[in-house]
Amino acid sequence: MASEAVKVIVRCRPMNEREKALGCKAVVSMESARGQCFLQNPAATSEPPKQFTFDGAYYQEHSTEQIYNEIAYPLVEGVTEGYNGTIFAYGQTGSGKSFTMQGVVDPSIQKGIIPRAFEHIFESVQCAENAKFLVRASYLEIYNEDIRDLLGADTKQKLELKEHPEKGVYVKGLSLHTVHSVVQCEQIMETGWRNRSVGYTLMNKDSSRSHSIFTVNMEIYTVDEQGQDHLRAAKLNLVDLAGSERQSKTGATGERLKEATKINLSLSALGNVISALVDGRCKHIPYRDSKLTRLLQDSLGGNTKTLMVACLSPADNNYDESLSTLRYANRAKNIKNKPCINEDPKDALLREYQKEIKKLKAILAEQMSAHNLSGRRALSGSRDKLLMKIEFAMITLDSKSRQISLFFVLCLPNCHPGQDVHSPRLTQTVLCSIELREAFAFSRLQMLERQVVGGEQAKNKDLKEKHKRRKKYADERRMQLVTALQQSNEDSSEWVLLNVYDSIQEEVRAKSKLLEKMQKKLQAAETEIKDLQSEFELERIDYLSTIRRLERDLMLFQQLLDQVQSLVRRDCNYSNLEKIKRESVWDEETSCWKIPQPLIQKTRLPAVPALPQPKPAQKSPSAESQERTVRCYTPILPILPYF
Ligand code: ADP
Ligand code: MG
Repeated sequence: MASEAVKVIVRCRPMNEREKALGCKAVVSMESARGQCFLQNPAATSEPPKQFTFDGAYYQEHSTEQIYNEIAYPLVEGVTEGYNGTIFAYGQTGSGKSFTMQGVVDPSIQKGIIPRAFEHIFESVQCAENAKFLVRASYLEIYNEDIRDLLGADTKQKLELKEHPEKGVYVKGLSLHTVHSVVQCEQIMETGWRNRSVGYTLMNKDSSRSHSIFTVNMEIYTVDEQGQDHLRAAKLNLVDLAGSERQSKTGATGERLKEATKINLSLSALGNVISALVDGRCKHIPYRDSKLTRLLQDSLGGNTKTLMVACLSPADNNYDESLSTLRYANRAKNIKNKPCINEDPKDALLREYQKEIKKLKAILAEQMSAHNLSGRRALSGSRDKLLMKIEFAMITLDSKSRQISLFFVLCLPNCHPGQDVHSPRLTQTVLCSIELREAFAFSRLQMLERQVVGGEQAKNKDLKEKHKRRKKYADERRMQLVTALQQSNEDSSEWVLLNVYDSIQEEVRAKSKLLEKMQKKLQAAETEIKDLQSEFELERIDYLSTIRRLERDLMLFQQLLDQVQSLVRRDCNYSNLEKIKRESVWDEETSCWKIPQPLIQKTRLPAVPALPQPKPAQKSPSAESQERTVRCYTPILPILPYF
């Protein structure tokens, strides 16, 4: 299987008003034609700027439109062919991640990658010949290592991650929304985006600390020239990551620090996965360390075409963060993925739909031959209402109940009017049921066909031509970038050494130039080593502060536990915490401890010799009910203070 490197581009936003007011200087510069980005250390202006080469370098004057056409286009096109794709934006808060992914409406050239991907997908779908598509969207966020459905009925509910041998990692209960048009996609994106921000204001959260993943799931049904049908499935993940800034820099305290720590954990896990993938010696890739890395597992080193957009601020006061982003991005470009077309997915809904459509068409054809279809339109008003009710019920039912109902409707008596039916009442019922069955088949067919899209513009030559041109444009631009890079390297050492010189002086000049270049490279490498060491030092400080905070938390819980433990009844299993600890097991799936249920084992006292029992006094009703209350609560009340 051919491997393909993760594509990485860098984008630098313009200086914002605050940075201008502070008199910040720009430390980022770019050579866009060659995909190069330079970063000048403001504290060492005599040093040469650090240089990075990517699959694209975009500065303030560049638009999202350009980025999309030059680099994102082939990736999204691949999704419509059955390849998985992931685009994620990385960078510190305020560097332009959401601007790149969601974008703005005005000016239109700055419309984000997500809405552009919708337009692109539907353009491809509509131009396709002999193909049908089922397009469904989902939108989730990860906040504090909890997953929430931004399009779900309850956006506060935490969802679980599950693993399936064929489906891979998935979010249990995440809602999937069938979409038929760009407008619907945009509405869904808006709804999710709103739910995100509503959640933040209500819960006093900060959106820069959450990761969001918008996913477009596609199922593609094609018929080849031999009349053979094929089914493919693909997923496009559009990821807006949390701010990558170091927690110590954010000045977070208390709850905020706790959140920052967890989110940093997620991003560190992403960094560790990237490092492990790039370091050829690593056998274990720590995908399981965070929800984010588990969800993006296939996008990093797996079966996906991946693009990372590293976002930067140009200002000198963000130098450290910019350097860290560039390093992160530089590492990511060495990840090798193995994208392949996902043929014959096992759980494809489109296959079910296609089967059902065939069946319904056969029923309608049979009915057509039996009697005039136009008669259906003469259905009485009450029957029309009934039909609408059935259709509505079918749409709202879950798939199992729908299948059962469908079975009943399709199994209605398959006879024709005038057949040996003597009772007028029965004739009426049969007639009604035939029409009902037929009308139901018709409306269900329409409903199913509405779910599936494709080929609406297959005859539109202009649109198809435009589509082809855009595809070619991205390829050409890639070639230009490679050529420009080759040209810039043409005075490489090999060329200098192999060249035949006319005079000694010329040779000396050329070789001195080469020496100078090499010395610069050496100097750059030395500063890089120093930088990396100080970066590791900063990271170490970060980790240490996290450990200290966690230790303090742990101490608090230990002290609380010591206090509370003396209040636990002796006959409760929680009075022996050591035993409870031994019996507890860590559950990888839910990332939770499974701890024993609280139990109270009543010890029976030795029987007391029987004394003549006085006649039981009549208990007052209140005393009796009190006793019952205690008896009924003891098993679930393990902690009872000895007052
Ligand atoms: P992030 O999502 O990384 O926290 P945003 O996308 O919200 O950052 O960007 C922060 C601010 O900068 C926003 O006001 C946004 O409009 C502006 N901005 C970001 N990138 C650009 C750009 N390339 N051109 C113009 N404005 C930008
Ligand atoms: Mg943002």
